[in-house]
Amino acid sequence: PITGRTLSRIRPVIAGNWKLNHSPAAATEFLQAFLPRVVDSPAEIVFFPPAITFQAVREALASRGAIDVGVQNVYWEDSGAFTGEISASMAAEAGATHALIGHSERRQLFGETNEHARRKVEAVLAAGLQAILCVGETLEERESNRAEEVVLRQLEVGLAGVAAEGRQALLLAYEPVWAIGTGRTASPDDAAEMHRRIREFLVQKFGKDGRSTPVLYGGSVKPDNAAQLLAADEVGGLLVGGASLDPEQFARICRAACPSDLEKSASREK
Ligand code: PEP
Repeated sequence: PITGRTLSRIRPVIAGNWKLNHSPAAATEFLQAFLPRVVDSPAEIVFFPPAITFQAVREALASRGAIDVGVQNVYWEDSGAFTGEISASMAAEAGATHALIGHSERRQLFGETNEHARRKVEAVLAAGLQAILCVGETLEERESNRAEEVVLRQLEVGLAGVAAEGRQALLLAYEPVWAIGTGRTASPDDAAEMHRRIREFLVQKFGKDGRSTPVLYGGSVKPDNAAQLLAADEVGGLLVGGASLDPEQFARICRAACPSDLEKSASREK
């Protein structure tokens, strides 16, 4: 088994998933308040606004090239008679850098399966975007000791079409469903346990290159628990829902990964 922290990137990825929140006007207002608060954040920040708000976020960020913008979902076809969908290639053309795939709300409310996630991951990578595949077990699955089995199945099927070269544009997010939007957070130890299992899977699949795929934790991350979760074994970033809607809270989360902590982690690794 793999032990010890794999600091895939020295800079942790902090992703804000706005879900169905923040209109274009609200997003512009958010960024006016948020940007001055993260001038010295060491994080790699990515926003996932609603598709209709995407352009407003890009415009408001124009002077801050270091912050990325992604889409919350894509369809796997490039174009055609698929009312209501957007494609990965269109998202790329519009300036997206990332796409979330298989978020638990997509799975639970919109019937997405592991097979759908697989096709979407392939489309996202083919379009040159970075894919963040979300995995995680429900409370019932955890209580019946099936958490690991469920997560490994989501990874096996979701990543079935990803070859070693493709994994460079791949990120994962472990989000236990019982911790999303509920105020219940996995303890850093519980998060680390699953993150280590995910790392083992990645190394089995991609060889030693699998050590560098960032694995984010998500589920009721708040300013008060962000630093502790980021310090957990194999946690390479955070995917934040509710707390990413408030500029002050999200900025505090982005600042939670202070450079001195990162240096400590890096030196622990040597
Ligand atoms: C999410 O939407 O991915 C999420 C983790 O939400 P929250 O932070 O609100 O639990």
